[in-house]
Amino acid sequence: MEFLDNYNFENLSNEAERIVIDELGRQLSAYRVPICRCNDCVVDMAAMALNGVKPLYRSSLLGTLYTGAAAEDKGYSKAIEKAVKLAIEKVSLNPGHA
Ligand SMILES: [Zn+2]
Repeated sequence: MEFLDNYNFENLSNEAERIVIDELGRQLSAYRVPICRCNDCVVDMAAMALNGVKPLYRSSLLGTLYTGAAAEDKGYSKAIEKAVKLAIEKVSLNPGHA
């Protein structure tokens, strides 16, 4: 554990997480087909979408500026939209519970 004790990884975070969760909220509120929206399913959708997009890690608050620019990239937004849409469809057709 020495390595972990010597450094602070608290500021290491994947900005894609915030973007995917925002997009998931947006798409779900516009989704007209009745689907399960329990916590398990919604978190599953977020995980699946995140596995389908390029991560946007930053290592400090300053890094947010850099990832902010990447996040505004049209191609990246499109990829997020697509990954979230696919994740909603996949999880709702095959939920992780009975
Ligand atoms: Zn569910």
